[in-house]
Amino acid sequence: MIPHDTIDTIIQTARIEEVIGDYVNLRRRGVNQIGLCPFHNEKTPSFTVSPAKGIYKCFGCGKAGNSVNFIMEHEHFSYPEALKYLARKYNIEIEEEEQTPEQLQELNEKESLYNLNLFAQQYFSKMLTDSEEGKAIGLSYFKERGMRDDMVNKFQLGFSPVKWDAFSEHAIQQGYKKEFLVKTGLSIEKDARLFDRFHGRVMFPIHSASGRVIGFGGRILGNDKTHAKYVNSPECDIYNKSKTLYGIYFAKNAIISRDSCLLVEGYTDVISMHQAGIENVVASSGTSLTHDQVRMIQRYTSNISILYDGDPAGIKASFRGIDMIVEQGMNVKIVLFPDGEDPDSYARKHHPTEVEAFIAANSVNFILFKTRLLLGETQNDPIKKAALIKEIVNTIALIPDGISRSVYVKECSVLMTISEQVLMNELNKILRAKIKKGSPELGQELEVIPPDQPVSEPQLDIDHDSAEYQEKEIVRMLLLYGQEVIHIKLNPADEEEVPVGVADYVVHDITHDEMAFENLLYKSIYDEYVEGVEKDAIPDRNRFLSHSNHEISSLAVNLVFTPYELSENWFKNNIMVTTEETRLQMHVMLALHAFKARKLDKMMTEVRRKLSDATSPEEQGVLMKKFQALKKTSIQINKDGLGRIITR
Ligand code: ATP
Ligand code: MN
Repeated sequence: MIPHDTIDTIIQTARIEEVIGDYVNLRRRGVNQIGLCPFHNEKTPSFTVSPAKGIYKCFGCGKAGNSVNFIMEHEHFSYPEALKYLARKYNIEIEEEEQTPEQLQELNEKESLYNLNLFAQQYFSKMLTDSEEGKAIGLSYFKERGMRDDMVNKFQLGFSPVKWDAFSEHAIQQGYKKEFLVKTGLSIEKDARLFDRFHGRVMFPIHSASGRVIGFGGRILGNDKTHAKYVNSPECDIYNKSKTLYGIYFAKNAIISRDSCLLVEGYTDVISMHQAGIENVVASSGTSLTHDQVRMIQRYTSNISILYDGDPAGIKASFRGIDMIVEQGMNVKIVLFPDGEDPDSYARKHHPTEVEAFIAANSVNFILFKTRLLLGETQNDPIKKAALIKEIVNTIALIPDGISRSVYVKECSVLMTISEQVLMNELNKILRAKIKKGSPELGQELEVIPPDQPVSEPQLDIDHDSAEYQEKEIVRMLLLYGQEVIHIKLNPADEEEVPVGVADYVVHDITHDEMAFENLLYKSIYDEYVEGVEKDAIPDRNRFLSHSNHEISSLAVNLVFTPYELSENWFKNNIMVTTEETRLQMHVMLALHAFKARKLDKMMTEVRRKLSDATSPEEQGVLMKKFQALKKTSIQINKDGLGRIITR
C-alpha cells in the first residue's frame, strides 16, 4: 500500500504538462497547452492541458483527468502502477514492502499521528454535541455566532472539555501512546503529567488537501482577555504550517470550477463564507501566504483574490508578500471590506447574494490597487511620484508573462498620467538587469517592444491554412476594432473616401460574398456583430469579455490579449504604413481578403473533388460552370483586395 501522504506528494509534484509532454507534443495556447490527442485519431489538436489546474481534457473524444489518470489510461496501468511510474519520474521514494526498519517506523509514526488526530477530532465533535458542558458553552457559542448545524458538521467543529486533562486521560485509556499525544501537541507534558493543550476551547480541525485531520485550532470562549484567543497545534511530521491552507479540502472543487480562489484570514471567515454559499475560499491562518501555499493554490487556479478588512496600513504592510504571489505568475486581486468588517462579520450581516455581489464589485487588480493607493499619497509631489513609478514598475517586472506586463504598463500609465514609454523604459531597465543576473524564467522575453509597435504573439506554428485561422482573425478584428471608423473607397476606381464602421464594413463584405463561418464559437461571436450591424448597435467588446458562455468569454479574453501584428507582406511590398488609421484599414482589408480567399479555395477544392467523381456529362457541365464562377470570383477578390491594399 502506498501511504496517503506519499500519494499527495506525488500528485503535487507531478506537473501535468511534463507528464503528458513525454507522450504528446504540446504547445502553448493562452494559459493552456494543446496537442494531438493520444487517445483518438485527429489531425487538428483538440487535446488541451491546463497546467494551472493539473488536468487534461480532449474536446474531441472527451477523455479527461489528472496526471495519474493520464498514465493509467495511456499505459493501461493500475492506480498504484501509475503512481509508481510518476514517483520514479520525479525521484519520489515510495516506502512499500522493502523498507528499512527506520522507514517503516517513520511511516507507522505518521500513520499513528493521523490516527490520533482522527480520534481527537471525533472525541471533540462528540463532546460538542453530546456532553452537557459542550452543549451549554461550546455549541451555544457557535449558535450565538450564527453558525448553522450543517457547517458545524461539515467542518467537524468540536469542543474540548474544560477539565485540564479530560482528553489526554481518555486517549491514554483508549490505548493511544503518550509519545504521539505530545508529538501532535494535543497534550502538553509537564512534571510527568499530561495536560490538554486545548481544554475549554471550541475546536477547528485543520484538514490536509486530501481531507485528513493534521492539526487543530482552538478558540477561547467569549472574550476572556487573559488567555490567547486562538491556540494552534504545533508543527509535527504531518503538520507543516507553511504548506497548509485552512479549508483547502472543502474548497478544492469550487476553486477549480470557479477558476478563482479567495483568501481570507482565518477559520471563522472560511466557515462564514461557506455558509453564504461561497466555497472557493481558504485561509492562511494569520500570516501572509508562503511560496508553498501559493503553489498549492496554483494547482487549481491562477486567480487569487485576497479579502482584507478595511485597514490600509495592514494592506500596505502586505504588499511585499503579494509581490511574491505575482512573481509566481498568479493574477492577484484585492477586495477591501468596509472599515471594521471582515469577511466573517460581513457575511453574517448580509444576505449571501449581497456578499457575492460585494466581492464581485470590489475586486481590484493588485497592481492597479497598489498604484491607486500609493498615488493617493504622492500628493503630486514629483519626487514621491518618481519613487512610485519605480515601485510599481518593480512589481510589474515580476510578472512572468510578457503580454500581461504590457497590459499593466498601459493601464498604470493611464492611472498615473505618465506616458507608456516612460514606464516601458523603466521596465526594460529592470528586465535587463534581471537577465544579466541570469533569471532563468525570463529567458526569451528580453525584448519588451515599445508600446506603439505591436508585440507579436509567441505562438509560432499556427496553421495559417486552416479556415479557422482566418475566421479567428476576423473575430479578433471585430473585438479589437469593431467600433472604430475607417475611411475607404468603396471601389478602387472611386475618387472619394467614405467613413465606415469597421464592424459594418466587415459584416457587409462577408455577407455580400455569401461566405459562412465554420467554427461555431467564432460564428456565435460574429453573429452577434451581424445582429448589431442590423440594429445599428455594434456590440461593445466587454459584452464578450464577460459573456455568460464561458467558452466565448475565454476566447474573447485570449483574442483581445493578443495584440495585432504588422503583416510582413507590407514591408515586402514596400507599402508605407503611416497613420494609425491606414494601418487599421490595412488590417481590415487583409483579414477580409485572407478570409475570403481561403473560403474560395476550400469551395474550389470541393468542386474539383466532386468533378472527379462526377459520371454524367450534365453533372460535369454544372460543376465546371460552378468552378469557373468560383475561379472568377477568386481572381476578382485577389485583384480587388490586393488592389485596394496596394493602391494606398
Ligand atoms: P471575534 O469574535 O472577536 O471577532 P474571531 O474568532 O472572529 O473573534 P478574529 O480576531 O476576528 O477572531 O480573527 C479572525 C480570524 O483570524 C479567525 O477566524 C482566526 O481563525 C484567525 N486568527 C486570529 N488569531 C489567530 C491566531 N493567533 N492563530 C491563528 N489564527 C488566528
Ligand atoms: Mn472576527
